[in-house]
Amino acid sequence: MRLVLLGAPGSGKGTQGAVLAAHFDIPHVSSGELLRGHVATGSELGRRVRTFLAHGELVPDDLVVDVVRDAIASAGDAGGHVLDGFPRTLAQAKCAFDLAAPTVAIADAVIYLDVPDDVARERLTGRAQTDRVDDAPAVIEQRLEVFHAETAPLLRFYEQSGLLVTVAAEKPVDVVTAAILDALTERQR
Ligand code: AMP
Repeated sequence: MRLVLLGAPGSGKGTQGAVLAAHFDIPHVSSGELLRGHVATGSELGRRVRTFLAHGELVPDDLVVDVVRDAIASAGDAGGHVLDGFPRTLAQAKCAFDLAAPTVAIADAVIYLDVPDDVARERLTGRAQTDRVDDAPAVIEQRLEVFHAETAPLLRFYEQSGLLVTVAAEKPVDVVTAAILDALTERQR
């Protein structure tokens, strides 16, 4: 199973990503986690991307693709992946097809976790992850803006590819997971 999770910050990508990865026994590949890992270890790449993360801006496409390339390749050997946070721009989406090709598709389905901005804001402000510098209120606004400007266009892209599954994601975690699994079963019929 190959899944891509799309959604605004605070839509639950990280949470659902972990649950779905456990359910299907496939790796959860989070571009944000991978990037934060580089920042934490102070790698060369970490130093280059630190400011983008701190300001809620997107890391340049070529750097992100470098970070996820290996993870996607090894996930392919592990029977699939849940991609969380990548792709996030149209350029990345086009690149994602190339990364996975020619042997596999990047996704059997792209799940859009649909939440109103107010819910996303509330969740991000309230979450206990105090170690994330980008959960400061001004940065949250920037991340929401970036989502609408850069990532929302992917919805149309994946709808046209016939891959898009939209799930109302403001409900409790287990209800959203059940809705995702139902939608996936429905698609396989
Ligand atoms: P996330 O954990 O998915 O919320 O990502 C946290 C931050 O990492 C984002 O605000 C961006 O600065 C950066 N980031 C994560 N994934 C990407 C991506 N696919 N493209 C560009 N920047 C990304």
